[in-house]
Amino acid sequence: MKTYTGRIREVADEIREGDLNVAFTGAGVSTSSGIPDFRGEDGLWERYDPTAFMIERFRSDPASFWETLLEVRDEAFAEDPEPNPAHDALTRLHDGHIGAVVTQNVDGLHQESGIPEDDVVELHGNVERVVCEACGWRADADETVEGMDKLPPACGSCGDAVKPDTVLFGERLPEDALGKARQLAEKADVVLVAGSSLTVEPAASIPRIAERNGTTVVVVNFDPTPPSVSPDYEFNDDVTDLLPAIADEVMR
Ligand code: ZN
Repeated sequence: MKTYTGRIREVADEIREGDLNVAFTGAGVSTSSGIPDFRGEDGLWERYDPTAFMIERFRSDPASFWETLLEVRDEAFAEDPEPNPAHDALTRLHDGHIGAVVTQNVDGLHQESGIPEDDVVELHGNVERVVCEACGWRADADETVEGMDKLPPACGSCGDAVKPDTVLFGERLPEDALGKARQLAEKADVVLVAGSSLTVEPAASIPRIAERNGTTVVVVNFDPTPPSVSPDYEFNDDVTDLLPAIADEVMR
């Protein structure tokens, strides 16, 4: 890690002084937990055809959709992923300094590291759940998949095919989560962006909303952010080093 002492101290001061601070996390926070980035050079989409995960395919042929999905799931989540130091740092900050985490990740690792479900806004859903489009029934994905004798897994309430509770290609982001995220961005004193390249819309609009309102925007991401965003502080470094350093400084 490079030396950022002065800037980390300034960021820590802003976080301590803020009444409402919000973290915004992307794939970079989960890669150290062994979860591959779906985009990028060795991303899953280089090996799997993204059209296999379109909502239309699920609706027209849920059985073969699930067959491909289980293959990818076995590969991407082969070893039970655990929260890493970046998650833990945010959980420490949640204890008094960060009100909510808005995430593009679907792995549930913020909750697993100790942030209550109500304080995590999942923009792209959660792979650990399934949902029935017909009746809204939700359940644990593992339990539903393990208990079935044929594909696709069926809704425990109406018997329809269930869908993974994640945003598939061709689907809109959930309105309620997006609305909540926008509201948080409008009210926040500090938005701490971690592990997101801020390229995927509409999620990327969240820090821009914050910027417009005079919120302090802090970015911790290995790759530089695109020119459309001009954060107050930017650290192009490893989130598993930088976030613990920021949390330490805030707690000092
Ligand atoms: Zn149902």
